[in-house]
Amino acid sequence: MNLLDPSLSEVDPTLARLIDEENRREHETLRLIPSENYASRAVMEATGSCLTNKYSEGYARKRYYEGQHVIDQVEELAIARLKTLFGAEHVNVQPYSGSPANLAVYLAFCNPGDTVMGLALPAGGHLTHGHSVSITGRYFKSVPYGVRRSDGRIDLDEVRALAKEHRPKLIFCGTTAYPRQLDFAAFRSIADEVGAILAADIAHIAGLVCTGVHPSPVGIADVVTSTTHKTFRGPRGGMLFCKKEHASVLDRAVFPGLQGGPHNHTTAGIAVAAQEALSPSFRTYAEAIVDNARTLGEELVARGFAVVTGGTDNHLLLLDLTNKGVTGKVASKALDRAGIVANYNAVPFDPRKPFDPSGVRLGTPAVTSRGMGRDVMVLLANWIDQVVKEPANDALLDRVALDVKALCASYPAPGIKI
Ligand SMILES: *Cc1c(COP(=O)(O)O)cnc(C)c1O
Repeated sequence: MNLLDPSLSEVDPTLARLIDEENRREHETLRLIPSENYASRAVMEATGSCLTNKYSEGYARKRYYEGQHVIDQVEELAIARLKTLFGAEHVNVQPYSGSPANLAVYLAFCNPGDTVMGLALPAGGHLTHGHSVSITGRYFKSVPYGVRRSDGRIDLDEVRALAKEHRPKLIFCGTTAYPRQLDFAAFRSIADEVGAILAADIAHIAGLVCTGVHPSPVGIADVVTSTTHKTFRGPRGGMLFCKKEHASVLDRAVFPGLQGGPHNHTTAGIAVAAQEALSPSFRTYAEAIVDNARTLGEELVARGFAVVTGGTDNHLLLLDLTNKGVTGKVASKALDRAGIVANYNAVPFDPRKPFDPSGVRLGTPAVTSRGMGRDVMVLLANWIDQVVKEPANDALLDRVALDVKALCASYPAPGIKI
């Protein structure tokens, strides 16, 4: 041991204590935020390694700094595994996260002022798909499409009509709060009808896509963008897949267009996550995510909850709490106090404001990573029902929190030190 190289708890006991506290919180509570997961210990070991020290602007074998013998192999390993997993012709693992990955698509294919289309944020789209407060809505002419009032599903007729009227340069499909599968082929034909580039953003569903549990847009969309830390269960990061013809324009958009040196420790963590995702057990995991979400949805419907679109065929559920007489914020704060961590969320055509909307979004990727199954989903539905009925009953919330903690003790979370 190098005595001149003290540990975190010696250098910074305050921060070490905060990490301990977060470890405990992540162990003792049920994580139902659909964009969150537990990266494995192996992923975290790679992410916390000396690879964070190295600058490597450029791409493998075309770098601007020396000393890349190892780094080139790390990046090539990540790329090779992702190509196998997703069947992609070209992969870029350098985007710092999902939002920068999406910005690279705009930079590669659009000029400021060009027209772009994406699913509206209140309908379940992402900020970076052209929302007004995002750079993507400020620097581009954004034409949002929505979902149908009748069934909460994406209205492809509306997408086609808007595309024909506005002739966008770029169409984004992909969602952040939408419980159904996407019809990538239908988006492809709409993009072709108007000569638009089609980008599919699979940030939430990458782990379902690479296992065949959700249809893949790879080979259908011109570009596929993703995060690496949601259902894919890697470190926080981003990745891009595209056809060979778009490889160089997209690579140049990431570097030097948007970024400097890649985060090599993150690239290494992505390589490890890809290795884990290549094992047959990851497919079983992805299937269990959807099975759990479906079960939780059915159990909540049976308890009188209004589930947007009536259920789910992916990893998440959107509850409209209007009929329960509780707002999304009140419900999510009460659930958090009870050890059930979710987020308040707008529902389609929400009459309430985004900061206190009518809905709550629930997802099963993280609880499934802990090995929880249908029996736990039934318990969860009961607890959610009790909390939503009496969100101000502190004694109830404390009792549920204790029950949740007792349950969690039997399901250790990957990567969490307790
Ligand atoms: C989470 C998400 C992103 C952004 O990812 P960040 O890593 O938070 O920047 C982009 N698109 C969709 C659809 C997402 O759900």
